Order: sequence, then structure tokens, then C-alpha cells
Amino acid sequence: ANHPPLFAETRGDIEVSFEFFPPKTEKMAETLWDSVKTLEPLHPRFVSVTYGAGGSTRERTHQTVERILKETSLTPAAHLTCVGASRGEIDDIAREYWDLGVRNIVALRGDPPEAGTKYQPHPQGYRDACELVAGLKAVAPFDISVAAYPEVHPDSSSRSFDLENLRRKVDAGADRAITQFFFSADCFFRFRDEAAAAGIDAEIVPGILPVSNVATTRRFAATCGASIPQWLDQLFEGLDDLPSARQLIAATVAAEICGQLYAGGVRHFHFYTLNRAELSYAICHLLGVRAKA
Ligand code: FAD
Repeated sequence: ANHPPLFAETRGDIEVSFEFFPPKTEKMAETLWDSVKTLEPLHPRFVSVTYGAGGSTRERTHQTVERILKETSLTPAAHLTCVGASRGEIDDIAREYWDLGVRNIVALRGDPPEAGTKYQPHPQGYRDACELVAGLKAVAPFDISVAAYPEVHPDSSSRSFDLENLRRKVDAGADRAITQFFFSADCFFRFRDEAAAAGIDAEIVPGILPVSNVATTRRFAATCGASIPQWLDQLFEGLDDLPSARQLIAATVAAEICGQLYAGGVRHFHFYTLNRAELSYAICHLLGVRAKA
């Protein structure tokens, strides 16, 4: 309550990071690079690039990471998963990244290539994110982020098992955890408290998804252990044909949640940009994050 309200002042105490996905087409690449350039002056702690299941999408992750490294002043973080590759193959990719100058990795298990099936590790592969973290640290002293789930991962047998899994990832060497998106600051605080009580001392960074399309978000949420509260649905009712209004509401909602998180002590926010700069930029601005020369 002692903090000034949103919009009140320029704050120098907030760190941000931005997540992008590798572009599939020339047009998408243009949008991505415009966004990267727009967000660059906000001096994010790092910008991360997601990793897909197929060979060509993986290649695009490498290319995007390399281009960020070579053409911007930003620190790229390459996402890497355990899916469809042996330990040796993953270690080779990590070594290539290190040799290129990449120091940040987001280490994930990944999802089964066919949605709805049970996850099966590669016979010679890393079994889960915990093993991957340990493997990467053995290759080089990367700065490693891992995933965390305030509303529990769908594969987890219980809330406590999921926390224990996060603790194992941190014990294996993860430097921070980035959460799946959520729409309740209280849900995040509960998770942060439980993690601390479970002996997890790494920073837990909230993953912020600015939502301007509830239907798309719902499809995604169903697979990843996040819920869409009723109020969010209601908020977008009647706005199907008003995309600009939806954008304004998306920024307002996300900034409100970020403001609550800030009041609760959060100082690093990770934005799922969906390769579009405007929303994340606006929310950062409302939070008091300003461009620096
Ligand atoms: P893990 O931490 O290994 O565990 C997942 C679940 O399985 C947990 O519930 C855990 O309790 C359980 N579990 C773990 N190990 C075991 C075990 N040995 N036995 C039994 N149960 C176990 N996916 C991509 O494909 N590409 C990306 O770029 C990507 N980026 C992401 C970024 C963030 C910030 C987040 C939050 C998720 C991202 N994902 C990405 C999604 C992620 O790959 C999936 O959520 C996946 O299902 C789990 O990955 P994990 O690293 O959390 O797995």
C-alpha cells in the first residue's frame, strides 16, 4: 500500500524480459523484428525464443537466437526441450550455443508431439527438465531458467509433487523459474509462498500473457494447467468486432495484475509477447518502465 499507484512515476527498480516465438514466414519475421526493435530500448534482462517439436522450427529458433545476438544489444535466451533427441544431440546444441556466445537457456521437458498422449522420453534422451538442467550445467555454466506452474502442471499427481519437481530443478542448477500464465495475483503469491516453504530459494518470475482474445487463450490454457476466470470471459463479451477495444482492455487487465504483483514485491516480469510489441510495451510503460538510450 506504500507503493505509488500505477502510472504515477518512472520506476527504476523493475526488470522485464520478453518471450518470442520463431517466425514461420517472411511476413512473420518482419513483425518479429519490428517488435524486437521496439522493445529493445526497454533494456530487458533477456529475450527468450521458444523451441518447437519439428526440425525446421528448431532451426528457426537457432537462427532467431543468433540474429538477436548479432544484430541487437539484447541478451538472447534459447529455449531447449528434451523432446525427440538424445542427450548427446542436446549437449551438442548447447555447446554450439555456448560457442556462439549464448549464455542463457530456458530448459524445458517439452510436450508430447501428439497432443493428448502421454509424454514418453526419448530412449537415449533426458527424461525431464530436471535431468536437462543438470546436463546443461555439465556442458557449460549457463544461466538457466525453468518452468513453474502456479495452478499445477496437468501431468503432476499433486500440488506438492509439482513443487518437489521445481525444487529438484533448482537443486540441479536452475537460476530462476518462469511461471505459466495466470490471471490472479493471489494465485501467484500462494505459489511463491509454498515454493519458499518447500525450500526453493530461486527467484520465481511471473509469466504475463496480455489477453486480447479469450477464445484463443482458452484453447491454450486447456493444455497447460492454467484457468480462465469467469470475469475475463465477461470482460470481453460483445467485443468480437472491436479489436482496438480488446487491445485497450488487454493492456488494462495485465497492467492491473502487474500492479498487484508489484505491490506484493515482484520486481521482474516476463511477458509472453506473441511477437507483438505494442501490448507489452504499453504495459511496461504503465508499470513505469521507460526506454533508455
Ligand atoms: P518438467 O519440469 O520436467 O515436468 C513436467 C511435469 O511432469 C511436472 O508436473 C512434474 O511434476 C512431472 N514430472 C517431471 N518429472 C517427472 C518424473 N520423472 N516422473 C513423473 N512425473 C514427472 N514447451 C515447448 O515445447 N517449447 C518451449 O519453448 C516452451 N517454453 C515454455 C516456457 C515457459 C516459461 C513455460 C512455463 C512452459 C514452456 N513450454 C514450452 C511448455 C513445457 O514444455 C510443458 O509445460 C511441458 O509439459 C512441461 O515442461 P517442464 O519443463 O515444466 O517439465
